[in-house]
Amino acid sequence: MKNIFLFLLMGCTLAACSKPAGPQVVAHRGYWKAEGAAQNSIASLLAAGRIGAYGSEFDVNLTADGILVVNHDFTYHGYKIYDTPFEVLHNDTLRLSNGELIPTLDEYLEASLQYPEMKLVFELKSEGDPAYEALAVPGSVEAIKKYGVEDRVEFISFSLSACVEFAKLMPKCRVEYLGEEELAPTELKKMGISGIDYYYPVFDKHPEWIQEAHDLGMIVNAWTVNQEEDIVRMLQLGVDHITTNEPELAQRLIAAFEKSKK
Ligand code: MG
Repeated sequence: MKNIFLFLLMGCTLAACSKPAGPQVVAHRGYWKAEGAAQNSIASLLAAGRIGAYGSEFDVNLTADGILVVNHDFTYHGYKIYDTPFEVLHNDTLRLSNGELIPTLDEYLEASLQYPEMKLVFELKSEGDPAYEALAVPGSVEAIKKYGVEDRVEFISFSLSACVEFAKLMPKCRVEYLGEEELAPTELKKMGISGIDYYYPVFDKHPEWIQEAHDLGMIVNAWTVNQEEDIVRMLQLGVDHITTNEPELAQRLIAAFEKSKK
């Protein structure tokens, strides 16, 4: 009897720790096609939470005075973010298309607490400047710790050096390389990186990398997959995460794909 109880307890513990079965949807720059949202707005983050997305992706840049802000491009309304003080960017006259001011990383993480189940797919934008990364990487880690969201963050970056540094500073967080260079999973694993996150045609070219990554315990994410036929093909190839501008379509296709396997 005691053994049965221990067995059940162990099973529950393992189930709680493992990720949900099957492929998952990451809303690219949040669910920005939702009403009232814009790319990388707090509204897009909350909309991704409302539809139960596995994760919401967002892009982080550093201002001239060391404030981390959420924005895709290196520029905002024509200002190079890294050369511009925060107060110039965070200004009533400069707005996102949905009317929000440019969110700070702090504001973004605080808003994310409303959906504590959702993963935060954190892309650090970087042009590979060591001085920039020396501020932006530890600053990102500090903000994540401040909001206690370490277990929800998955780092991604086109900068290999930033990925390696995140892996060192937060060894329990997943870190996925976005593939400025197309590197095989084995090479990335040696650097402490725990996932590949490539533009989806890379997986058409290198379908063997998916199994190679899985054999190494790495996660495989494909971006940015928006067309039905491409989403279905990536599912058939066996990727774990689909990063998409069409998260509700991807959710429906994943449900149908999983059902078809039964
Ligand atoms: Mg991004």
